[in-house]
Amino acid sequence: MLIAQAEVLITSPGRNFVTLRIRTADGVVGYGDATLNGRELAVATYLSEHIVPLLLGRDAHLIEDTWQLLYRGVYWRRGPVTMAAIAAVDTALWDIKAKVAGMPLYQLLGGRSRVSCRVYGHASGRDNEELFDSIRAHMARGFRAIRVQTAIPGQDSTYGVASSSAAAAGSDARYDYEPARRVPLPIEERWDTRAYLRHMPGVFEAVRNEFGPELPLLHDTHHRLTPIQAAKLGKDLEPYDLFWLEDVTPAENQEALRLVRRHTTTPLAIGEIFNTIWDYQTLISEQLIDYVRSAITHAGGVTGLKRIFEYAAMYQIKSGVHGPTDISPVGLAAAVHLGIALHNFGIQEYMPHSADTHAVFRPTYSFVDGGLMPGEEPGLGIDYDDALAGSFPYQPAYLPVNRLLDGTVHDW
Ligand SMILES: [Mg+2]
Repeated sequence: MLIAQAEVLITSPGRNFVTLRIRTADGVVGYGDATLNGRELAVATYLSEHIVPLLLGRDAHLIEDTWQLLYRGVYWRRGPVTMAAIAAVDTALWDIKAKVAGMPLYQLLGGRSRVSCRVYGHASGRDNEELFDSIRAHMARGFRAIRVQTAIPGQDSTYGVASSSAAAAGSDARYDYEPARRVPLPIEERWDTRAYLRHMPGVFEAVRNEFGPELPLLHDTHHRLTPIQAAKLGKDLEPYDLFWLEDVTPAENQEALRLVRRHTTTPLAIGEIFNTIWDYQTLISEQLIDYVRSAITHAGGVTGLKRIFEYAAMYQIKSGVHGPTDISPVGLAAAVHLGIALHNFGIQEYMPHSADTHAVFRPTYSFVDGGLMPGEEPGLGIDYDDALAGSFPYQPAYLPVNRLLDGTVHDW
C-alpha cells in the first residue's frame, strides 16, 4: 500500500476549499480537508512544497507513524497551518484504510455508538420578528437545536447575522450567512460590548416566550468578552437554559475560564480555533468547559481530534465539533464518522453547503430528522469531481476584522 501520488486540489464552488488527494500504487484514493479560511494558499503551499515529497513511497497504512513524523519531525510544532496540513494527510490515510478494509470509516473507529449525530443550525435576525422567522424556517428544514444570533441595535453589522430575511431563512442561493467575503482585503466591522451585553438577555427571553422551554438554544460570543464580562453574560442567560454559550473569551489564557466558571452554571463550549490537545490541557483537566469545539480539519485530523475527545471524556466533557461552511464536505464527513462512533459525542454544528459544493464533493452523508448520518460505502463517502471543481477557480476571500467604536482593533 505505498503512496504513489499526493495532489493538492483547490476549488471555489461558492467559497474556497483546499483538499489533499492521496493515491496508492494499487489505485486506492483517499481525501483530506486542508481548508484554512482566509489563509487557504498557505496550507496548500505547505502541503505541496514540504509534505507531498515526504509522503511519496511511504506505506499508506502507517497512520500514527505518519502523524508523529509530520508533528514531531518538522521541529516547529502546532499552529493552524501545520495542523491543517497534518489533518489533511491523516484524514486521507483513514479514508484509504477504510476503503481497503471495505468498511465505512466509523466501523474502524469502533462502530456505531448512536443512530445519528444530532446537529444544530444557525438562526439569525436583524430583529426579533426576523429571528423568529429564521428559527421557524430552520425547524421546518428539520433542525432540532438552534444557534441564536441577532443584530445589536445601533451596529451596522453583527457576527452571525444574515444580511437578508431570505438568507436568514436559508435560501438555496446562500445558506444563512457567509462571513468570508470575496474581497481582496478584509472588510471592517464595529463592535460595542456594552450594547451587546444589554441586548442579549432580552432576546433569549423573547425566544423562550415564543418557542417554549424544550428547544435546545445555543449562542456564540465569538471570543469578544473579558472573563468578568463573560461571567456576567453567563449569569444573565441562566434563566433561559442555554445548551451552550460558545467562545466567551479568546481562551488563549485557559486559566481565565476559572473566573467565568465560578460565576455561572451556563454550559460553556470552546475551541474552534484550537489545534492541539495542549490548547485544552487546563480547560479539560480543571473541567472549565462542557464541550470541545475543534474540527478535524484544524486539529490534526481524525487522529488528533479523537485524542482530544478521549481526554475530555475522562472529565465528562463532550464533543461539539466546529462545522461552518469552511469545513469542506470532506472534513464534515470525517466528523460525522467520528461522531457516530465516539462515546462522548455531544452535538455537531451543521451549516449546509451550497448545491455547487455538494456537486463537487458528492458527499454521501445525509441530514435526517435533526441528525447527520454517515454514508455506508467504504471510506469517508466522498467522490471529488475534478472537471466540475476546475470550473470554480480560487478567489481571494477574507473574514472581517473588528474594531471598537473608538477604532481599536478587537477580536472578531
Ligand atoms: Mg463559533
